[in-house]
Amino acid sequence: MIFGAAFDPSFITMTDRFGRSIDYLRISVTDRCNLRCKYCMPEDGVADIGHKNIIGFEAIERIVRVAVDLGFRKFRITGGEPLVRRGVVGLVERIASVSGVDTLAMTSNGILLSRMAAELAAAGLDRVNISLDTLQAERYRDITRGGELSDVLAGIRAAETAGLTPIRVNVVAVRGFNDDEVLDFARLTRLYPWDVRFIELMPIGDTAGFGSGYISVDELGAALQGYEPVSPNGVKAVARYYRYPGAPGRVGLISPLSSHFCGDCNKLRLTADGRLKTCLHSNREIDVKPALGSADDAALKALLSEAVLAKEERHLINDGEAPVRRGMNKIGG
Ligand code: SAM
Ligand code: SF4
Repeated sequence: MIFGAAFDPSFITMTDRFGRSIDYLRISVTDRCNLRCKYCMPEDGVADIGHKNIIGFEAIERIVRVAVDLGFRKFRITGGEPLVRRGVVGLVERIASVSGVDTLAMTSNGILLSRMAAELAAAGLDRVNISLDTLQAERYRDITRGGELSDVLAGIRAAETAGLTPIRVNVVAVRGFNDDEVLDFARLTRLYPWDVRFIELMPIGDTAGFGSGYISVDELGAALQGYEPVSPNGVKAVARYYRYPGAPGRVGLISPLSSHFCGDCNKLRLTADGRLKTCLHSNREIDVKPALGSADDAALKALLSEAVLAKEERHLINDGEAPVRRGMNKIGG
């Protein structure tokens, strides 16, 4: 035996050209959504990618198995809205049962969670990030073009009861829309053990013009008087965290634009039409569908490895690069 009796397969990781360990795959399972957030989707929705182009659950499970063989350990299901894909609970069960998957998370708008949280947890989902940009019902209807805030709040409660914790609430910061709600959101962390994270608006796809609402999270963070920085304690995190003394939760600031965290990027993304994306802001895509036609996993493995090695060093949005063509609902965040 080459490695001796103590060989541990968890030591296998893929390292890209810039020395980053890549062990995290975000899987978009649909480009459809039950909301139409103004910064993400055009009002009349999107031409959907069509049933025959969308990759099936068997294929996704196979990709996860191959990714695990290459050292991927963390997986996230996203969309569009992942909970509108029929049978998604079954997909959670398939992925969670793949040996070597350490964490299986989901990003959701929370609208359907009150109905689905318990079965998602029973199927093996570990936790959920819920997107919520305002705590005011009328504003929520406005930014989502018709969503009901009470549905999301019920979803968060259901997720917590089901043990899909720690709960993370992701708030896209939009100047003139929710920049006056920083303290209302932060107050939640003094009541509940949640991470409430403000994320900078990014210029992406058809809705890139909405970017005039950009506000840096540092500007927002200035309102957090009395909140103290939480030491990362060696844990790599995209957010900088703050805690009010004695509070159960934390406020996070995520600045993909003003101070990008590309140096710590550990992920690939898989779109619902079967393309690997090497960076959220890059138009480079590697189609895995042809490799799914072969019974042998070698071609699939080669494409995943190729994607890792093709990862860009960093995004160039701050250097004037045009927004990526594919919309956020077709990438998954
Ligand atoms: N529908 C799910 C949701 O809203 O959580 C998952 C998909 S959504 C595309 C993933 C995340 O991307 C959400 O947190 C959403 O707020 C965020 N997002 C969408 N468009 C964005 C943009 N232009 N800039 C920053 N975040 C964006
Ligand atoms: Fe749908 Fe999420 Fe995009 Fe909002 S951000 S339109 S909920 S995919």
